[in-house]
Amino acid sequence: MHENAEWPSNGLAIEGDFSGIQRFVLRPTPGAGGAARRLRARSFRVLALTRIVADAVESHFRNEKARLFYSAGGRFLVFAGRCHDWRERLASLQRDLDRDLLHTYRGELVFHLGAAEFNDGKIPVNCLAETMRMRKRTPLQGALIDGQRWAKDGFFRTVTSPEKCQGCGATGETVARQDERLCQACIDDQELGASLLGRGDFGLTPSDSGAIALLGRRWTAARNGRIPIRLIPHAPQDGGNLLTFDQLAKRAPGRSYLAYLRIDADRIGEKFRHQNGDARKTVELSNQLNDAFSSKVGALLAREFPDLYPVYGGGDDLFLIGPWNAVFDFAEKYRAEFRTIRNGELTFSAGVALARPREHILTKSEEAEEAIHRAKVTRDSIHALGATIPFADFSRVLSCARNLARLHGAGQVRSALLYNLMELHHRYRALKNAGSSSGTSDQELGNSERGLLWHALLFYQITRNTSGETAELLRKEFLTPGYNWKYADFIARYAMLVAGKKGED
Ligand SMILES: [Zn+2]
Repeated sequence: MHENAEWPSNGLAIEGDFSGIQRFVLRPTPGAGGAARRLRARSFRVLALTRIVADAVESHFRNEKARLFYSAGGRFLVFAGRCHDWRERLASLQRDLDRDLLHTYRGELVFHLGAAEFNDGKIPVNCLAETMRMRKRTPLQGALIDGQRWAKDGFFRTVTSPEKCQGCGATGETVARQDERLCQACIDDQELGASLLGRGDFGLTPSDSGAIALLGRRWTAARNGRIPIRLIPHAPQDGGNLLTFDQLAKRAPGRSYLAYLRIDADRIGEKFRHQNGDARKTVELSNQLNDAFSSKVGALLAREFPDLYPVYGGGDDLFLIGPWNAVFDFAEKYRAEFRTIRNGELTFSAGVALARPREHILTKSEEAEEAIHRAKVTRDSIHALGATIPFADFSRVLSCARNLARLHGAGQVRSALLYNLMELHHRYRALKNAGSSSGTSDQELGNSERGLLWHALLFYQITRNTSGETAELLRKEFLTPGYNWKYADFIARYAMLVAGKKGED
């Protein structure tokens, strides 16, 4: 989104922000081939609705020369000239939106509008933040009060034989489609998703039969539509068909697992606040982040990771699903690229959850989010397979894991040794945790009798059970102080995953 609008010296700043995006986008339950397509449609829908609301704000304030300043993820910022009745006009638009979203999206998606005046040539960040905070305490107010009652007939169609939709889990009227029973919304999403396959810039065009409806108008996705929508232009395909999660999982070596990867830029609110409302700097930061999480990701996927499926990317976060090993490789490569923007000023944290192909997307995504919270403790880190690894160490750890997996595959490392490694590492961790609660330093622990025990046992294991390249690798990686022993659990688990049989749990 490279709007070249100039922020005026005074006027009205209008901000728009979606909430509920994650639950809305991730609702499709996996299953047959349609899930990936519906996910794609839903993330397109969120970006599309954001731009449609921005468009509505622009036309509501047309006389005040309203213009979009930027839009990223589910947010936008518009500026306009001041007018005496902006509060009423914005409130009426908010009411229409609330009613419409409650009706069309069963209240799953809520859009918040907020505005503040300014006369110092800056974005009134504090004022906008306060307005948004207030608004978010009373979501959907416009539809729920205002003398309205929950009109059952109005909001929810009367259903003769309610059934659970196998696409989104909602109860309603369903229709048999291939091997699933789906509600109309899911069928629309499936068709929308199919039309979004392939490369090219998609946009929105008004259309009476369009699948996206808001504020009395319908829109459809089209190449080079009037309102450009930046969806990561990549989807794993085979002969023009979107690969299903089952097919993707089978592309992993060893166990047929998927990994869910969520990435979230570190301290982003703070970074924006540091721009002190400077419009040029703020839009620059927003564009850089949005580029990094959308087009840069798309380019990397097309170049090196065709099997990864981007669920969404933009704003300040990214979510993708793919064969578990490819997800780790991607995290390593992408982090290196991300560090090149703004001269290494920005970092991100990543969380990974392993999943079987038919597990519930929302549940697994929440697990990946929980993993991000763990990574955020140190920031610039990844939490995966039960370990938190700073990105500074990640390449080294991953390379060791790949080597160990290779030796295991070649029969030079037995599974029993991997279990022993994990067991010793477990004891080491327990000691370390006990040490840190009693204030013992790593150094003291290393020198203590109990601390040395795992070291001696490991040395014994290596000497007795391995030889040649394996013994050399294990000694270097795990017995050299300050090397990879800290991450031995991750490394052993990785090697076990590679060795696991197809379809094994
Ligand atoms: Zn459905």
